[in-house]
Amino acid sequence: MAALSPAMRQYRSAKESYPDTLLFFRMGDFYELFYEDAVLAARELQLTLTARDKARSVPMCGVPYHAAETYLHRLLRKGYRVAICEQMEDPKQAKGVVRREVTRVLTPGTALDLTLGAEQSNYLASVVVNGIQKAQVCGLALLDLSTGEFRATEFSGPTAWLQTVDELGRVKPIELLYGSGLFGGIDLTGEAIREDSAALDAVQTKTPLESWVFTADHALPLIRSHFRVHSLDGLGLGGHEQAAIAAGALLHYMRATKQGDLEHVNGLRFYERSSCLELDAVSVRNLELVEPLFSGESQQTTLFYTLDACCTPMGKRLLRSTLLRPSSDLTQIEARLDAVAEATANLRLREDLRQAMSGLLDLERLLGRVALDSAGPREVVSLAATLRCLPSLLNAARQFKATKWASLAADFDALEDVQDLVDRTIAEDPPVSLSDGGVIRTGVDAELDELRELSRSGRQALAAIEERERQRTGIASLKVRFNNVFGYYIEVTKANSKSVPADYERKQTLVNAERFTTPELKEYETKILTAQDRSGDIERRIFAQVRRQILDAAGRIRETARRVAEIDLLGCFAHLAALRGWTRPSIDSSGLLEFIAARHPVVERRLEESGGGRFVPNSVHLDADSGPSILLITGPNMGGKSTYLRQTALLVIMAQCGCFVPAEQMRLGLVDRIYTRIGASDNVARGRSTFMVEMTETAAILNSATNRSLVLLDEMGRGTATYDGLSLAWATVEYLHDRLGARTLFATHYHELTLLADRLERLLNLRVTVKETAGGIVFLHAVESGPASKSYGIEVARLAGLPSLVIARAREVLKLHERAESQQVRDAVSDPAPSMQMTMFTPLSQRIVDRVAEVDIDGLTPREALNLLAELQRELKG
Ligand code: ATP
Repeated sequence: MAALSPAMRQYRSAKESYPDTLLFFRMGDFYELFYEDAVLAARELQLTLTARDKARSVPMCGVPYHAAETYLHRLLRKGYRVAICEQMEDPKQAKGVVRREVTRVLTPGTALDLTLGAEQSNYLASVVVNGIQKAQVCGLALLDLSTGEFRATEFSGPTAWLQTVDELGRVKPIELLYGSGLFGGIDLTGEAIREDSAALDAVQTKTPLESWVFTADHALPLIRSHFRVHSLDGLGLGGHEQAAIAAGALLHYMRATKQGDLEHVNGLRFYERSSCLELDAVSVRNLELVEPLFSGESQQTTLFYTLDACCTPMGKRLLRSTLLRPSSDLTQIEARLDAVAEATANLRLREDLRQAMSGLLDLERLLGRVALDSAGPREVVSLAATLRCLPSLLNAARQFKATKWASLAADFDALEDVQDLVDRTIAEDPPVSLSDGGVIRTGVDAELDELRELSRSGRQALAAIEERERQRTGIASLKVRFNNVFGYYIEVTKANSKSVPADYERKQTLVNAERFTTPELKEYETKILTAQDRSGDIERRIFAQVRRQILDAAGRIRETARRVAEIDLLGCFAHLAALRGWTRPSIDSSGLLEFIAARHPVVERRLEESGGGRFVPNSVHLDADSGPSILLITGPNMGGKSTYLRQTALLVIMAQCGCFVPAEQMRLGLVDRIYTRIGASDNVARGRSTFMVEMTETAAILNSATNRSLVLLDEMGRGTATYDGLSLAWATVEYLHDRLGARTLFATHYHELTLLADRLERLLNLRVTVKETAGGIVFLHAVESGPASKSYGIEVARLAGLPSLVIARAREVLKLHERAESQQVRDAVSDPAPSMQMTMFTPLSQRIVDRVAEVDIDGLTPREALNLLAELQRELKG
């Protein structure tokens, strides 16, 4: 193999230090990739693959450095890590090969993606599991580098790992860090700690780090030194060592990937899930809180989309995170509701407030870019422009009286000093890049002003020289020009070369022209270029000082951004309440859940926008302490059962976020957790059948719901044989009723379950109504008390267009089933011995059905039908 060139030796050594990355190797105006990196990048970025050597043994491709950002983000979004290897000295001045170094490693969780949706957080997460065998504690930390938000939590006990995974499923980090030995262990429930669980699958990039990174000895000092504290207590992390270790590992990763000092990451908060209404990852998904159920579908089906009337990116992010963590603290919720009520009632003040927010840019992300040194002059000016809007926002917020408004306005820091600093120092309309010059205002630095004057007068002098030389030589087309390679020169066309004076020195010959210099020109050149270099240095120095001063105020800026987000959220809730006529929920700590004439906010809006008719309001009454605790809802497919279930959960979530609700009246006893088992989410790819997924979710509900929880079960037991499914649904309802007492909505197609109302006193039957007309059934979508008189599956199948022969045959088969089954179930209900209930249900075979087709079924009583079946079965067996 031919010896490597010095540059390729540098490449090899950088690649060895960062083996798991794509190495962007700076060569002049390009970032080049070599070998397998080049092959991969060419494929992913649709670049032309060339070769560096004649033998074509070194594949190569490249991107221009000024356009690199777009390419980088495309790779990061695909989950790759990229190391940037820069030239560390000016190639013009370098002796031998230019020195190069990896200056930064970009990973999906650390890169600032400008295309990132303003409402999305860009979390990098880290997990640690301690004590796989004995008592287990899991630490989880989350860092959004784009805003500086940093928080950590801990889970303990037998379900610690499951809860950790669940939290990850809810937060959906972009990248997850973990110790290399983590997966493959066993958690306390005996479940393997697997990398391929549903929640972890959603994390695009998983980055294993060596396990020593996750030790107290390594991680805790990193936290102490970053936050300059002696003990973790000051951060609220005392006694939460695993949370702190997970957070320390994140800081380790920041160092390893050279993310700079992270001065905007100036706080680390310990949070507990129990202080909020807990929503597991399954419910967040099923209820389409922030994302549609199936990726790629329109965002319009989400609650977030429906509620997002926020004016600022900070408000949008707060809305999103609030929907994922509604409060369970009555005082907090009431404080928000009071504030929303006041703003709802006063249109003018509300509009003033929202108007004041209209020009606000993303303070947190601008600060993030300043901290990571990726902010150019224009971003610093935008930061100041945003700060300039704050006094009028504060003034608008001060007009309200509610305690929450008062506390947001009290000591509100409008950061006038930071704004003033930028206004005084940076030009009003600066160029994109600092190196273009002209970023610092005149009057800031005397030397800079002088140098600028010098280069300006230098340029005037050059113009004068041009004019003088034209006169002297008589060449009217003579030009004095500049380029980067040759500096200043006099250009004369070939045709005029005879007239060139003897004191011109030839510099370069072109096809049609010749270029010259003179001692006088050289002198001016040195003057101008030195002045430009020097003023560039001064601009950089002053800009760095401004950046430093902004970062000194990072904590204050973040606090102001937090308050702006909260003001925006309250304004958004008030705007929706007024616009849509929503009402204030009345919340206490009872076991009540009562809505009168409630509507599903997302479906209602969709119907409105599509002109698809009016949403039919429905009511709910549940009481975990006394009164009905389970509503069993039957009725045809498409009748509106799922909508009724979801709307109940969504309204509870909205209320506990402090938002008004689409209902005439709502009374709610605080809910601690919402559990949902809605629809079939197949997971065949992971080797779990639909039914297995359903049962796993149901198990989670039955094992952890409390009598302050809200449980939604939709079509439980559908994924297995009818009688297995029915029996499981039956036993589940009994368990919820007798043991848990949780407020439950149970939608089912198993008609048989409605008979449970005879025996379970806190179970109420509800049905979604339909009207039967000559042309078929019409869905009324109204929910009323009582069981559905029959199921309409065959009717709905007819609407769907099944052949009439199949429909007619299905009707016959159904008739027999209904008659026989209703008697079976009645028998089972009157004799509640569980063993009896299970064995009584016997599937009907096709052969029996065929035989029975000969009998006049309409003429039989249910008892006779059952007897006939038993007889036929015996006969068949015999
Ligand atoms: P299935 O058993 O097939 O899942 P379902 O009874 O759960 O059906 P939904 O999915 O809740 O029915 O509702 C079907 C459609 O009916 C919804 O997409 C919605 O457009 C409409 N709908 C439901 N409830 C109402 C309502 N209260 N007012 C107006 N339209 C409604």
